[in-house]
Amino acid sequence: MRYSILLLLFLTIISCTNDDDTSKFTTTTATASDDINNGIYGNGDNNGNDSNNSSNGCAGDYPEWLTSPYVLPYPVGKTYQVALSHCSGSYHSPGQPDQYAIDFRMNIGTLITAAREGTVVYVQESGTDYMFPNNIVVVKHGDGTYAQYMHLTKNGALVTPDSFVAKGDSIGYSGATGLAGYPHLHFVVTQDSWPYPYTSIPYNFKNTASNPRSLNSGRSYTAEPY
Ligand SMILES: [Zn+2]
Repeated sequence: MRYSILLLLFLTIISCTNDDDTSKFTTTTATASDDINNGIYGNGDNNGNDSNNSSNGCAGDYPEWLTSPYVLPYPVGKTYQVALSHCSGSYHSPGQPDQYAIDFRMNIGTLITAAREGTVVYVQESGTDYMFPNNIVVVKHGDGTYAQYMHLTKNGALVTPDSFVAKGDSIGYSGATGLAGYPHLHFVVTQDSWPYPYTSIPYNFKNTASNPRSLNSGRSYTAEPY
């Protein structure tokens, strides 16, 4: 048991060290206690009673997850692991622009789909994996919020500016461009504007396991039909 906890902490520190992210230059405020909490609560043991788990998610108000306008940003039937979720340390720490961002571990070339319908307002796909710039697709929603899909692989975008995407439509292929130490999708919803530093906001997903305060770090989630 003690060995497994030490191993978990080691893996957590490695993943936090390797994390991320966008074209940012602020310093992280993650602490050792953050890492410990992530390790303990990021092992996939939380299931079902998340609403009473104050360590899961940020302190903000979350909408009702069953009627969320968001679905997981990958095709129905696919399962991926959350490396870092909301308020989980590193660049996703409370008070950071990305406090409500989620990192999904994905091999380079994994298909990403729209979490919510909207209009594509920005596409960057010239970056090369493990180098800058960070390849991004930004979709504006009807309520003025934005979904941002980051670290896409080179020439990995499947949409162009001004095109409309329905929920579940293809967005592009994941990668490791920009400040990404390992291949993953950095997904974030922002309020009012999209350029960094933005203001991210709470959200959850209607087509997977119970997630009233959004997804848990370390746990894998399957995209269910919706
Ligand atoms: Zn991230």
